[in-house]
Amino acid sequence: MPARIIDGRALAKAMRGGFVTRIEALGAEGVTPGLAVLLIGDDPASAVYVGRKVKACAAVGIASFTERLPASISNAELLGRIVELNADPAIHGILVQLPLPAHIDMARVLETISADKDVDGFHLYNVGGLVTGTTVFSPCTPYGVVKLLEYENIPIEGQNVVVVGASNIVGKPMALMLMARDATVSICHAKTRDLAQYTILADILVVAAGVPRLIVPQMIKHGAVVIDVGINRLPDGSITGDVDFEGVSQKASAITPVPGGVGPMTVTMLLDNTIRSAERAHALHRH
Ligand code: NAD
Repeated sequence: MPARIIDGRALAKAMRGGFVTRIEALGAEGVTPGLAVLLIGDDPASAVYVGRKVKACAAVGIASFTERLPASISNAELLGRIVELNADPAIHGILVQLPLPAHIDMARVLETISADKDVDGFHLYNVGGLVTGTTVFSPCTPYGVVKLLEYENIPIEGQNVVVVGASNIVGKPMALMLMARDATVSICHAKTRDLAQYTILADILVVAAGVPRLIVPQMIKHGAVVIDVGINRLPDGSITGDVDFEGVSQKASAITPVPGGVGPMTVTMLLDNTIRSAERAHALHRH
């Protein structure tokens, strides 16, 4: 029996409906969630991603403030601007669109953003909190995957989870978040010998490698849940994930499509983090 398709667009839509209610409640108290988006240089893909985030903010009632800064900006100028935004009470989230120009010290930038406004979840405090269970803001893509699994009532506790990809923004936090939910987690990456030896054991397989058709049917267990985080543009312009969807969906019990699976959840979780930041700031202000 072919796999159930996990509909990320439907969950994203349902969640965004709930955001409107939360934003109205904040509005009644005189608070509008505010997101500052810093776009440095003129990378066209970054401009597209920022455009999507800005549009999604507007649709639910988050005020977004995009600042386009030149690629030539100095480290000191950029850090100075972040410090100002940290102190601005109208701003509840600060997002610096990655990648940054080579001369910018990304680690310093991410650490300079106040952990209380770090809606991307990249500050060391929030990264460390994934280990200890005290994180304030979880990174948006793996957070979206967890929400998709919960929405689909897919148990995590005690399951064998294999995460393919070990980046700081997807694979590693994904593994930590699933470990925190008592899964048994293996992490694979480009240097893993015999990837299939691991993937075949997975009850839940999360793939975030950026390699089209990396996962083929013979690499998965019958009935596995397959979450495809990959976004790859093929020479014909179409978008595909990391999983051979046609083949794997004949063997899996549930699978995310690309597009329409994890992608819509990433921006949704950014909105969630921004609203939650505004709610936290308001609650602190009241007490
Ligand atoms: P990255 O390039 O930083 O990391 C890729 C990881 O995959 C690395 O750990 C690498 O070792 C591993 N890898 C590469 N080739 C492999 C192979 N042949 N076998 C096993 N592991 C391999 O990428 P990233 O930023 O983590 O993104 C991964 C993919 O997810 C990309 O396609 C990206 O576009 C996509 N992505 C999607 C979303 C979303 O919202 N859906 C968000 C972020 C990233």
